[in-house]
Amino acid sequence: MAYQTINPTTNELVKTYSNHTDADIEAALEAAHQLYKSTWSKGPIQPRLQVLERLANLIDSRKEELAQIVTREMGKLISDSRDEVWIIAEIARFFARNSERFLAPIPIESKLGEAWIEHHPIGVIMTVEPWNFPYYQLMRVFAPNFAAGNPVISKHAGIVPHCASVFEGLVNEAGAPKGAWKNLFISSGQVADIIADPRVQGAAMTGSEGAGSAIAAQAGKHLKKSTLEMGGNDVFVVLDDANMDEAIHAGVFSRLHIAGQECICAKRFVLHERIAREFLEKFTQAMASAKIGDPMDEATRLGPLSSAEASENLEKQVQRAIEHGATLHLGGKRIAGKGNFFQPTILTNVKRDNPAYFEEFFGPVAQIYVVRNDDEVVELANDSRFGLAGAIFSQNIPRAKSLASRIETGAVWINTFASTAPELPFGGVKRSGYGRELSQLGIKEFVNQKLVLVA
Ligand code: NAP
Repeated sequence: MAYQTINPTTNELVKTYSNHTDADIEAALEAAHQLYKSTWSKGPIQPRLQVLERLANLIDSRKEELAQIVTREMGKLISDSRDEVWIIAEIARFFARNSERFLAPIPIESKLGEAWIEHHPIGVIMTVEPWNFPYYQLMRVFAPNFAAGNPVISKHAGIVPHCASVFEGLVNEAGAPKGAWKNLFISSGQVADIIADPRVQGAAMTGSEGAGSAIAAQAGKHLKKSTLEMGGNDVFVVLDDANMDEAIHAGVFSRLHIAGQECICAKRFVLHERIAREFLEKFTQAMASAKIGDPMDEATRLGPLSSAEASENLEKQVQRAIEHGATLHLGGKRIAGKGNFFQPTILTNVKRDNPAYFEEFFGPVAQIYVVRNDDEVVELANDSRFGLAGAIFSQNIPRAKSLASRIETGAVWINTFASTAPELPFGGVKRSGYGRELSQLGIKEFVNQKLVLVA
């Protein structure tokens, strides 16, 4: 796979990056391992936390420049790129300020004597990340592992090499020692070799099911811990007592956010039959009138997909859904001309024997389902191979809470959508993966939770 920056708005090739060699990989592994063995990783946490605090300030000071790099490289709206830059600084700051508490020893009451849990780094972690949040995905792995003392080797997606290099530069500039974070432009085979290396103790992967399965298999073969953050087919439930304007606004925003290329966002719209007609009518109008165009233009609501391949595949996927009986209610096609623009799309009548029923559409494609009652909401939500997240819109909060508890996902939002924050855990169940990132749960994924007992 070539590492190339191609502007998705114009499809102009901006730059091709050279791949790292096996000798580069060996140097990266050795630098990371030496760092792990040093007092930097195993000693006091404060020096590491100071680097995270400096990193947060550095990111804040370069916000606009960093945001423009994302928009030019993967096409998200400039306002969304600014949000991404803002949140990565927040994540660095959150782990700078809370990790000492998260990793403090925990006493345990035991009849056998004085007992406690200590938290220690485990060694070098290999991470493989996708392009849709090209800094945020990296920071979710870097900040907690750096605080805990684990060096990380990173393979980013082939279409965001500029973001990968910039992130590495920021970490170095903030004062992280050599080996703490190394970006490598490498192949899947080389990733497998790194996971197999005895100096590596874990693999953290975000991406598609295929890649996740390959990486988990490699980690499993070598008896190493892995975390997987895969795709989703999230429900966006609108109950008959929802505030309709808020639900429509949130639904459109969520389905068009990052041109629909977000793991957690509204994908299956599950509408109570009493409001289904009204919702669909207003939702269709709002989707159809979203301003499509240059993601650098502040007025744009829908930018391009990340690559030509992504938009070609999405068009085929929509076509396949129609061939299997779905009704095309809106859009469904790539937009002719420069760039990877795709029409806002709505599919109805997606039945269970249609492959689309179980698929994730990674683009601005909404599926509409109508249900008669709350039990049918739960049945439909849980009739999925995925289990990442979901949203429920209702003014009856006890009713929404009770539904939230019955939905089999890693998260459910009530009267909002896809909200993420450093203190909130992130992750899924079923084929959406396992393990958590962010929060006090995330920092414990790759630490040795060691018991000590004094008889
Ligand atoms: P992808 O094809 O799996 O790519 C993700 C990363 O894996 C890239 O760096 C890719 O490298 C690499 N990769 C692919 N196959 C590999 C293999 N066999 N061994 C090692 N590395 C491999 O995923 P995508 O389609 O670009 O990303 C979108 C998916 O990610 C969606 O399903 C989305 O829902 C999911 N996602 C999940 C979360 C979450 O937190 N749960 C967050 C964001 C995205 P190349 O680019 O070089 O192929």
